[in-house]
Amino acid sequence: MKNKLKKETVPIKTNLRKGDSVRVMSGNDKGKEGKILQVLRERGGVLVEQLKLMKKHTKPNNKYPKGGIIEKEGVIQISNVMILCQKCEKPSRIAAKILTDGKKIRVCRRCGDVLDK
Ligand SMILES: [Zn+2]
Repeated sequence: MKNKLKKETVPIKTNLRKGDSVRVMSGNDKGKEGKILQVLRERGGVLVEQLKLMKKHTKPNNKYPKGGIIEKEGVIQISNVMILCQKCEKPSRIAAKILTDGKKIRVCRRCGDVLDK
């Protein structure tokens, strides 16, 4: 009897958010930097502006009246990107900090600078 394994998709936890500047740490786009366009927690990845571009065929629509091949951002695994701290200008790990008023903020683990601006 064949037992097909259903792959469950568990949304992964991440401190990364839309709008964060990140650097790619491995893969074809290693060393490149960009802004997160979208966090895809179910897929464990992010879309980063102008990175991992994939060619996609499209039919003519409002945005692309002629149709044809467009380039679209592909999913980059969250484990392959690190947030860029504006202060140290280096990829850094994120630390969570809880303020006295109970508000949770993200700080750079390297220099302690606040990442949520
Ligand atoms: Zn820093």
